[in-house]
Amino acid sequence: MKIARLWSSINGLIECQICERRCKLKANDVGICKNYANISNVLVHIGYGVVSAVESRPIEIKPFFHYWPNSTSLTFSGYGCNFYCPWCQNHHISFSNLPISSKRVMPGELVDKAVKMRDEGLCASFNEPASIFDYLLDLFQLGKKHNLYGTIVTNGYFTSKAILELIEAGVDGFSIDIKGCPTSRRAIASIDHFKVFRNAKEIIDLGGHVEVVYLVVTDFNDHDGCVDWILGKHIDMLGPDVPLHINRYYPAHVWKTPPTSLTRLLEIKQKAERLGINYVYVGNVDIEGLEDTICPNCRKLLISRRRYRVTYFKLEDKRCPRCGQKIPIKGRYIKEKTYFF
Ligand code: SF4
Repeated sequence: MKIARLWSSINGLIECQICERRCKLKANDVGICKNYANISNVLVHIGYGVVSAVESRPIEIKPFFHYWPNSTSLTFSGYGCNFYCPWCQNHHISFSNLPISSKRVMPGELVDKAVKMRDEGLCASFNEPASIFDYLLDLFQLGKKHNLYGTIVTNGYFTSKAILELIEAGVDGFSIDIKGCPTSRRAIASIDHFKVFRNAKEIIDLGGHVEVVYLVVTDFNDHDGCVDWILGKHIDMLGPDVPLHINRYYPAHVWKTPPTSLTRLLEIKQKAERLGINYVYVGNVDIEGLEDTICPNCRKLLISRRRYRVTYFKLEDKRCPRCGQKIPIKGRYIKEKTYFF
């Protein structure tokens, strides 16, 4: 357990300031994510070091397509979440209580493992990283000292203060899942989806790398009004060069509507391209070509990917070799990779 960094005492309550839920906790209350508690009028990270999974994974699986291509990251998770998505694939860790007597894994142990596995970086994934915020700060700071990059896969609902702390700790890659829009048919309780775009913009302004994931969930966020809102915010607030992953949903947990149709995914992709988004990918379908990077200027094929691995890479100094167009890629392409998973 560890005393949290971002909170304040307001009218006898402790307000957690890690995410925009801003839980206000009475004595002994635990926040929505089940990882932070008011203990003797101090906010404590009770889930510090309680890890649910650790494994070395390709960065493309997160997905990051414009960040350290072909690298691997030591991917880890805790328990808990600040959202409740009824289709969550990881509901067994996101919505469960913290296991009572689990061994705590200290940041140094994860960093040692990443170095031993020859991973290029670290990635917080599977459950929402906001739930284990203070653990992340310690881990990524230590990782930076060992030249490990820092990435998170998140719903992007942090406060602005938390984003700044993450970037200062060494996180420079954010895969952000935009869940919905103001007219999502059945909202995930009390989410202001605009704040997710606000945060993505703040990260970019601070020099971080962002890729946006739009999981198109049947009967939730797949109607025209929602598509237009999400694509519009993407182009207006983030610009044409932030990659967009339009992903197919499959029924999971308690959401049983049919998987997103391929036709709908391709319609959204075309709409995104017409609006001017340069790097649009369709994921969770495994169809050749839908995860390729094409030069937005001369249409040359630059990078192919299949099943989360890079199968073809043709960039020269991060530029199109035919027309010289600069392609936004953060980090190095790892040409030769020995896998340990
Ligand atoms: S991090 Fe957890 S406790 Fe803090 S505001 Fe978010 S949900 Fe609430």
